[in-house]
Amino acid sequence: MIIKIRLFGSLCDLTSGKYLFEFDPGINQTIKDCIERLGVPHTEVFFITMNGNFVDFSKIVCDGDFYCVYPECDLPVEDRYILTPKYLGEPKFVADIHLGKLVKYLRMLGISTVYGIIDDKLIISKALETNSIILTRDRNMLKENVVKYGYVLRSDVPKIQLKEIIFRYDLIKYIKPFTRCMECNGKLVPVLKAEIVNEVPERVLNTFNEFARCSNCGKIYWGGSHYQNMSNFIRQFLNSL
Ligand SMILES: [Zn+2]
Repeated sequence: MIIKIRLFGSLCDLTSGKYLFEFDPGINQTIKDCIERLGVPHTEVFFITMNGNFVDFSKIVCDGDFYCVYPECDLPVEDRYILTPKYLGEPKFVADIHLGKLVKYLRMLGISTVYGIIDDKLIISKALETNSIILTRDRNMLKENVVKYGYVLRSDVPKIQLKEIIFRYDLIKYIKPFTRCMECNGKLVPVLKAEIVNEVPERVLNTFNEFARCSNCGKIYWGGSHYQNMSNFIRQFLNSL
């Protein structure tokens, strides 16, 4: 038995640019299994056609089938044929434990990103519970049937990963620098200097006038050299887009 699978667009990033596959899938295999065997998790698949007709992931492949597999795009496809719907609203993320640097960048830009969960199953349940998108380089995690939203980072360079996410999820309009805690992802709220006199060093009180507190962990933030470095990074980064 031989089937053909043609991948389109960004799906080919996951197969080193190869887009046409012809192989013997074995008996009683679903198209989901066959696509994932190529290294493309189902979360990256928008819709599939087989010999010109729409099919879903449960389709058992047969000899001679020719499948076309598409990533998220603007083609006019009826909702009932869409396998991984577009994410609606402001995107939220759960990042796997290997993405610490990317998480810092995302939080710096004010993008909600949960981090610190080690176990894959707990990452998946957190993402489902909070309707968040899983960010990972571990394709196997995204192959779990229950995963709804997930993205495989193509690069292993944090700054490039950040660009990938910004373009993939159209995040420019959601960027709000310095509104989120770098430690815990909590939202920062402005506080008056008078409210925190006992909580920060005197030299800081004498130097800065604007402060914010994390609404979750209570950490206090102010300007300073670290803030300046991050501001420079953000300016350069946004200019480079
Ligand atoms: Zn915090």
